[in-house]
Amino acid sequence: MRKDVRILLVGEPKVGKTSLIMSLVSEEFPDEVPLRAEEITIPADVTPERVPTHIVDYSEAEQSDEQLYQEISKANVICIVYSVNNKKSIEKVTSHWIPLINERTDKDSRVPLILVGNKSDLVEHSSMETILPIMNQYSEIETCVECSAKNLKNISELFYYAQKAVLHPTGPLYSPEEKEMKSSCIKALTRIFKISDLDNDGILNDSELNFFQRTCFNIPLALQALEDVKNVVRKNLLDGVKDNGLTLKGFLFLHTLFIQRGRHETTWTVLRRFGYDDDLELTQEYLFPLLKIPPDCTTELNHNAYLFLQSVFDKHDKDRDCALSPDELKDLFKVFPYMPWGPDVNNTVCTNEQGWITYQGYLSQWTLTTYLDVQRCLEYLGYLGYSIIQEQESQAAAITVTRSKRIDLQKKQTQRSVFRCNVLGARDSGKSGFLQAFLGRNLARQNRIRDDHKSYYAISTTYVYGQEKYLLLHEVLPDFEFLSEADLACDVVCLVYDISNPHSFEYCAKVYKKHFIDSKTPCVIIGAKSDLHETRQYYSTSPLDFCRKHKLHPPQLFTCNTADAPSKDIYTKLTTMAMYPHSKLRCMCTCNRCTFCICHNLLNSELVRSVKAKLYSAVLTRHMTQADLKNSTFWLRASVGATVFAVLGFAMYKALLKQR
Ligand code: GDP
Ligand code: MG
Repeated sequence: MRKDVRILLVGEPKVGKTSLIMSLVSEEFPDEVPLRAEEITIPADVTPERVPTHIVDYSEAEQSDEQLYQEISKANVICIVYSVNNKKSIEKVTSHWIPLINERTDKDSRVPLILVGNKSDLVEHSSMETILPIMNQYSEIETCVECSAKNLKNISELFYYAQKAVLHPTGPLYSPEEKEMKSSCIKALTRIFKISDLDNDGILNDSELNFFQRTCFNIPLALQALEDVKNVVRKNLLDGVKDNGLTLKGFLFLHTLFIQRGRHETTWTVLRRFGYDDDLELTQEYLFPLLKIPPDCTTELNHNAYLFLQSVFDKHDKDRDCALSPDELKDLFKVFPYMPWGPDVNNTVCTNEQGWITYQGYLSQWTLTTYLDVQRCLEYLGYLGYSIIQEQESQAAAITVTRSKRIDLQKKQTQRSVFRCNVLGARDSGKSGFLQAFLGRNLARQNRIRDDHKSYYAISTTYVYGQEKYLLLHEVLPDFEFLSEADLACDVVCLVYDISNPHSFEYCAKVYKKHFIDSKTPCVIIGAKSDLHETRQYYSTSPLDFCRKHKLHPPQLFTCNTADAPSKDIYTKLTTMAMYPHSKLRCMCTCNRCTFCICHNLLNSELVRSVKAKLYSAVLTRHMTQADLKNSTFWLRASVGATVFAVLGFAMYKALLKQR
């Protein structure tokens, strides 16, 4: 909404322009007036719409044409004053004033006009008969009013209408020719209806109407008023009220009624509350609130945002199968101006047997967007009406900006819940398979993915010491020369080679030596396609020796060519390493007593050398999943890093998940 309003009065000499202004200011009719009143500013708090209002007079005797044109271009609304007892001054409205103003304003942004018939005290009958045809002819005329400066009739009304014409223009809402709401207004109100229809049954029931009323107007709707509203709709429309609630048709009808009765400020209040500007576009401030993200920090959704997204999911999962069918997904995104998720999303997150995005997958995709492109996430939340429904200051209230990773590393603990793992490897080494396996898809299932639906991201959850964490896998294109900062920046790195392809390990070794040998980022070498026959790698050292030399975990054998869903142990391990990058050389349990720890401590001994890589990884896997979870001291250890809030938050979150 505009911050101030500039009203210009024009018209023939002696019609009473100056007197109108003086009457408004002094609240009495001045017997003598100057040719032209000084520009006056009415302070915000004494105007009905609470915006400072400037009132500007015009006098042909005192001002040049040039000055008049300048004032016309500065004005937000122009009152063309005529005298009701002076025919010539009425004629001049169409023969002189309207063309003169229109010549000086853009066709698309015509300044609103108000026709003012002054000196109504001098005549018995109204001038409306002459005026109405003019109003019909020019759509830029907002309204007309008859008044008298002499007996102070309709003076404050006149200035109120002028203010309203600027602050709540009818133009974008209503087409007077067609006598109906404009399509962009219907679109905006339909979106508002959908957001306010919290249970998505197509009806605003009493509690939804009350919430709507409270959000838009800050006051609850009295029970009787609620009934009155519904009765008005019932009387005029067959299917405007259903099951004692307002249908979309009824809701739109009500707004048409407001506008037709000159109460369009009501509709504007609703539109603005839901983020729309004067052109019925969502404002930049609404969609992209300021959010500072210092370098080295990441962005996550907070607990409140997850709860909101959960409610949005529930409202659209009509058949309660905990997945969104294509139709349900389409319905969910109806409040968006475009479909934000393409078919690649189905290959980025977990889906059910039908390939539909599950509840987990849906939250994962939101987590991914928040992490990779927080501006987009804010925009999407804006479309869903997050700040309105959750009664937050702005969409930014949904976002947690994490502590700088540098400090996390110093303090050796983190409160983050999303960790990024970049997956590098030569062409065809098995990277995509590694990503898809995280979503529970074996090779047979993966082979059904269309090329143009592929994704270079996969995100899902893992449990680390009982805490649910997101692991975001990103497949980096194997272009050794063009690895950018972004390709390399992450919390843990996977270097993938194909155990059956003798040329594939070299890439891992080279990338490691070039980019990660001195970096603090933990690295894991993955021996993919472990169901195939292992061949000797054409590289100076074997993968196992390479790992040993660089103090890395031995190659982790991995296959997605399984009958059921591939094992998830490796992903839990990656998340753990991402969370605790310091302990990369030790067993992650740090007990120093178990087989795995002893193996590690004796890394160079004969004993370990004889342990085959396969066995090694099997020991690790079993150790991680069983021993850690059973050992209660681990639960204690796990909670040390997290604040009470985070634990509580996740516990509640899990409890909610269980309820579902
Ligand atoms: P302007 O040239 O348009 O600014 O007109 P003025 O304000 O100077 O008024 C011209 C004459 O009309 C003055 O003599 C006013 O006293 C008189 N006048 C202005 N408004 C009214 C009104 O509402 N009723 C009557 N009877 N006279 C008015
Ligand atoms: Mg004057």
